[in-house]
Amino acid sequence: MLITKTVKATQMAIAAARAEGKTVGFVPTMGALHEGHLSLIKRAKRQTEFTVCSIFVNPTQFDDKGDLKHYPRPIERDRALLESVDCDLLFLPPVEEVYPKDAMNEKLNYDFGYIDQPMEGEFRKGHFDGVAQVVNRLLDIVIPDQLFMGQKDYQQFLIIKKLIELTKRPTELVRCDIVREADGLAMSSRNVRMAPKERQKAVWLSKTLKETKTLFEQGYAIPDLEKRAITQLNSIEGIKVVYFDIVDAENLKKVTKRVDGQQLIACVAVFLHPVRLIDNMLLN
Ligand code: AMP
Repeated sequence: MLITKTVKATQMAIAAARAEGKTVGFVPTMGALHEGHLSLIKRAKRQTEFTVCSIFVNPTQFDDKGDLKHYPRPIERDRALLESVDCDLLFLPPVEEVYPKDAMNEKLNYDFGYIDQPMEGEFRKGHFDGVAQVVNRLLDIVIPDQLFMGQKDYQQFLIIKKLIELTKRPTELVRCDIVREADGLAMSSRNVRMAPKERQKAVWLSKTLKETKTLFEQGYAIPDLEKRAITQLNSIEGIKVVYFDIVDAENLKKVTKRVDGQQLIACVAVFLHPVRLIDNMLLN
């Protein structure tokens, strides 16, 4: 696996792959890799001929500077994991390569419509501007044929879909399924920060989502499903629900009644000391 730290070296390596006629797949990450990330790399390997993974803990998407400071950075382990799945290129830039001069403060002014407003948008101010800013910059550098992102961060996926539309990029966005631990907890780099007691309780997120899907299929009303889920999660000592919303999977608008043909998704965020966990599940 090649490892590059500068934009120039990265672009040269990708140009060499292109010169051999290879298509390029790209998986942007913040590192502390787990099976969820590796599933994206494996998918990229299946669908394209040269797989690029970036590891960059992007300062502009952290509304909570403590979270940024504590974000795990086990780079040697990450490197070995990427080798194990035959990733072709790891781009590991320092901040100055991604944001030269004043670029860090140059906010993009894209109109995402409503999708950056609810849920994570409401509770993490400026978060999606930072995500769009860094992905936009990374796409300028890598110019992939296909970009692979996880459904785990569903709202982020929709933001990037919109970004690609607005910037008229040639890149195809591929949504990858959520990879879960054996007990159902969605894999996340933040899971390791939970003590065993909290970790055990974290199972309630996916459990509640699964129950919601089952009850939805049985015909229960949407507001009742939301109320039930929130009550159940809040009844677990240590869990504090931030939101549990059933929304239109295309525009994230709240839904109260079923409409034929409308794809719905249940999205949840909770605090469970010392982390904030998110998860989601398509209902139909
Ligand atoms: P992150 O390093 O958290 O920024 O995530 C990098 C990419 O991996 C994003 O596209 C995430 O949606 C994706 N990802 C994170 N966790 C999972 C998971 N459990 N299953 C599938 N994809 C994931």
